[in-house]
Amino acid sequence: MASNYRRETICIQSGWKPTTGQPRVLPIIQSTTYKYDTSEQMGRLFDLEDSGYFYTRLQNPTNDFVAQKICELEGGVAAMLTSSGQAANYYAVFNICEAGGHVIMSSTVYGGTFNLLTVTMKKMGIECTVVDPDSTEEELNQAFRPNTKCVLAETIANPALVVLDIEKFAKVAHAHGVPLIVDNTFATPINCRPFEFGADIVTHSTTKYMDGHAMCVGGAIVDSGNFDWDAHKDKFPGLTTPDDSYHGVTYTEKFGKGAYITKATVQLMRDLGSIQAPQNAFLLNVGLETLPLRMERHCANAQAVAEFLESHEKVAWVNYPGLKNNKYYELAQKYMPDGTCGVISFGLKGGRAAAEKMMDKLTLAAIVTHVADARTCVLHPASHTHRQMTDEQLVEAGVAPDLIRFSVGIENVADIIEDLATALSFV
Ligand SMILES: *Cc1c(COP(=O)(O)O)cnc(C)c1O
Repeated sequence: MASNYRRETICIQSGWKPTTGQPRVLPIIQSTTYKYDTSEQMGRLFDLEDSGYFYTRLQNPTNDFVAQKICELEGGVAAMLTSSGQAANYYAVFNICEAGGHVIMSSTVYGGTFNLLTVTMKKMGIECTVVDPDSTEEELNQAFRPNTKCVLAETIANPALVVLDIEKFAKVAHAHGVPLIVDNTFATPINCRPFEFGADIVTHSTTKYMDGHAMCVGGAIVDSGNFDWDAHKDKFPGLTTPDDSYHGVTYTEKFGKGAYITKATVQLMRDLGSIQAPQNAFLLNVGLETLPLRMERHCANAQAVAEFLESHEKVAWVNYPGLKNNKYYELAQKYMPDGTCGVISFGLKGGRAAAEKMMDKLTLAAIVTHVADARTCVLHPASHTHRQMTDEQLVEAGVAPDLIRFSVGIENVADIIEDLATALSFV
């Protein structure tokens, strides 16, 4: 699947590669089902003896061409699309962690992921230990239990903007015989490829920069193919022992490096059905074509906005990993030398009340429950996305009550700064 193309070229050329007479643009295969000549052919698909499409709840060609492009961008061996980023993180964990299992998760993950692991998956019998992403190796080691199945964290946390020390997390996870799953939504593979630093599985909310235009909710899971499931057979029986629902197929034996994504497709997608609509995959693919251009502009604009805010008298603090005095500046330089993301957080000297007042005066930047798309937008997590959290959890998640999450778009940055300057004049 891998090519030697650079990321900008992969974004345009990879995935759908037409042969003579075929459409130049990725077709939307708007079909729930697929035809076979013989009953036997169809039967072999259900035994996983042949690979092929039979029902779009499991797999669709349009989706697979887009997943292939994302796979190449990340430098993985196999990938799949899901209907949302939530589904991607759920499947990524549930594929290897069942009732009785345990997950270690960074405290600063996205609020939806925090809920998924600590509330919903807990009801499914999966325990989760939340750790500070700045923990030392020793502290991280203490979080492991005999039934730990994976470690989950974000390259750049939404919205805390904590930069993950991927190598440290990977080293500790591997020392305990479990994979590191990294949600790479904010950095995108344009700015960081977590596999190069030891991550084993990458997830995405493609809803954000990958789509980039706020059109479609979607997700993706990519496997590096590097984690040796068979070396830890007893920990991952779902991959290394026979699956009764497929006449005793053992995924690692039959699919090698494709085992993890194959299982997530033929078992979890089959049973839970969070497939991405092919129409959405088509739009995601269009977004991916311009991802490198957009990321470059997002980062340049965000840097300028962060510097403007930092010098503004009414601003109490600014958090952006591209600022030299930022706690994560060095880590960001190491893992994301070309830039981090377009999201900034900041607080005003007037606190929460001033934040709400200022936000209402913005005209270009829109108040929306979204982040990381072409249009500049703003949100107050404590009142919106994270409002279910206690004050203690907010602090743990790196979300101060006065935190304004400002997602810098790709407009002309002078207009974004003017909008902020005007709004700040009212507080
Ligand atoms: C938005 C987001 C998610 C959830 O994705 P949806 O597509 O909204 O389901 C997961 N992780 C991160 C880092 C996100 O920003």
